[in-house]
Amino acid sequence: MKDKLNKIEEAALLAANEAVGEVELQQVRARYLGKKGEITAVMKGMGQLSPEERPLIGGLANEVKSRLEEAFALRQESLRQELMQQKLANERLDVTLPGRVQRAGFKHPITQVTEEVVGIFTALGFGVAEGPEIEKDFYNFEALNIPKDHPARDMQDTFYISEDVVLRTHTSPVQIRTMLDHEPPVRVVAPGTVYRRDSDITHSPMFHQIEGFLVDRKVTFGDLKGILTTFINEFFGENVAVRFRPSFFPFTEPSAEVDIQCVICGGSGCRVCSNSGWLEILGSGMIDPEVFKSVNYDPELYSGFAFGMGIERLAMLKYGVNDLRLFFENDMRFLKQF
Ligand SMILES: [Zn+2]
Repeated sequence: MKDKLNKIEEAALLAANEAVGEVELQQVRARYLGKKGEITAVMKGMGQLSPEERPLIGGLANEVKSRLEEAFALRQESLRQELMQQKLANERLDVTLPGRVQRAGFKHPITQVTEEVVGIFTALGFGVAEGPEIEKDFYNFEALNIPKDHPARDMQDTFYISEDVVLRTHTSPVQIRTMLDHEPPVRVVAPGTVYRRDSDITHSPMFHQIEGFLVDRKVTFGDLKGILTTFINEFFGENVAVRFRPSFFPFTEPSAEVDIQCVICGGSGCRVCSNSGWLEILGSGMIDPEVFKSVNYDPELYSGFAFGMGIERLAMLKYGVNDLRLFFENDMRFLKQF
């Protein structure tokens, strides 16, 4: 009996030392000291011993039991310490490590150019207006003196949502909306996204325009030339030559397309300017009296001019980008250069 107790004690100590983690230690403890444990079984079996043996073995069993209790408690404490050390090691913070570099975001080149253009015009006293991209036929065409049979309405160019609703093909409907809401004088630029059914190296079905117009008493073509020349010199540089070329738009009369001296070759002729030395950058003109009638402005009292340009084209010329699609592919190697 005595031998048996010694063997149990030995085995229990070994198992306690080998226990990995507190849960396992609890299981070992139950196996030896629990209600159905081996020591408990020995104590229960003492009834069969002789009266002389009983106190001897009983005392011995109690000693073994308390030694084991103590050993288990010690082992439990050391397991806790181990766990703590492990946690500390894992969660160690090396304050000497270099910090993670935060990469700062930046604006898309199209946004940068839009903001630059808007900035130049607001400095000249223009306000900023915006309008919906899904637009009624009336604002996009009708009120701008674009009759039903005008080529600009061709299904080739316009995304129709229904017979009467389109994705706006230019920012000019903002001009109509603004004039309907405000009496002259008005001076406004309207940047925004526009849509056309067109896609190649220089056309995208979605692109950006900025529209501008000014209406007041006695506004002349001279004012138009002055404002646009000022803008071009601010945007492309003081020494860039500008020319106004007669043109036609349904919503302006007279109309002019504005060219700048080619910024790539300086006017001597290159592939970008088709060897002409000039680059077309915007359309403009004196607002047609028919447009004034559709917004209830008196054409006898007021005159004004309007202009519109493509943001992507400005960005391509300013930064020497030769493929429009680069602006929409969101390749970071391209975008990071701005
Ligand atoms: Zn050129």
